Amino acid sequence: MPQRVPRSITSPKKFIIGNGMLAQLPDFVEDFGNNALIISDIFIVERVRKESIPALEQAGLKGQAEQFDFECTDEEIERLGELAKKQGANVIVGVGGGKTLDTAKAVAHYYKLPVILYPTIASTDAPCTALAVIYKKDRTFDRYLYLPQNPDAIIADIDILSAAPARFFAAGIGDALATYFEARACFRSDGLNLVLKKPSHTGLSLARTCYEVLCDNVEQAMFAIQNKISSPAVEQVVEATIYLSGVGAESGGLAAAHAVNNGMSEVPDLHMTQHGEKVVFGLLTQLVLENAPKDEIESVIGVIKAAGLPMTLSELGLKTFREEEWRKVAKVACDKNDTMCNLPFSVTEDDVYNAMVTANTMAEYYRKH
Ligand SMILES: [Zn+2]
Repeated sequence: MPQRVPRSITSPKKFIIGNGMLAQLPDFVEDFGNNALIISDIFIVERVRKESIPALEQAGLKGQAEQFDFECTDEEIERLGELAKKQGANVIVGVGGGKTLDTAKAVAHYYKLPVILYPTIASTDAPCTALAVIYKKDRTFDRYLYLPQNPDAIIADIDILSAAPARFFAAGIGDALATYFEARACFRSDGLNLVLKKPSHTGLSLARTCYEVLCDNVEQAMFAIQNKISSPAVEQVVEATIYLSGVGAESGGLAAAHAVNNGMSEVPDLHMTQHGEKVVFGLLTQLVLENAPKDEIESVIGVIKAAGLPMTLSELGLKTFREEEWRKVAKVACDKNDTMCNLPFSVTEDDVYNAMVTANTMAEYYRKH
């Protein structure tokens, strides 16, 4: 008898937000072990050595900080894994951007160790997910590594996150802004979420909360972020962009916004554009496809403007609009393995192309109004 696809809720075990979290590392390490390998980005490795290592030693624990070698490759995963073995580490810690955290997740997976992550930029919701992106030595994409478990703990230090360039913080808001609309579409279509299960009410509710938190806090948060400092609103937004968006998407599912983002990798002009910035344009396209109510569109536009995100294709970096290029974007976005099929109605490549052109004109209109 054919089995029905089950529903799922998956999440990291812990998500902590606060200040001075590097010095509090022992509190999290001792939940899992007594010897940590701390894989750190180049710009923060010295700070880890100054703040985390003495704190570990004071607590009677051991730790070693190792600089991440810039790319999440099989070679780097093996190098760090062997280092962990030699050191006798029983906990892996990652401190850095997306690639560093993906590497820490992969090392922990292959060497069967728990993993604690400290994101240093809030540009995507990737830290919370059970996924790592592996690259080849020449820095081109190799494969997605689907992990059997989400990370054990994510520690969001708002002082570190708010000190990163405002563009990254805004990109994280862009990625999170689409979460509710994609989860809602996936729930209505009873599609598949990020772990290829049916979407759950919990996923949809977290995605809705993510959107509400952004609507209420982004404007205030950006006033602090422009000064590279934190505030209560920044703390709220970080909970939305890193946790609610990650878990909302993983359990709730993606739809047109991320499919269009994936298609946009076909446009060379946009190669320097942030993931979350492209997702914003994908979201506008999805709202056109859904013929969303005007007040919903205007509320989304309000968050985009408050975050200082690019909205039109030229703001995203497009120099010339070439029809054949954007037909290709529509084709890739409609790939049968992508998440366009999670819309609760079927769309053709022509529909998506037309919606992107319309979304751009809509964005130009709202930029002036
Ligand atoms: Zn995303």
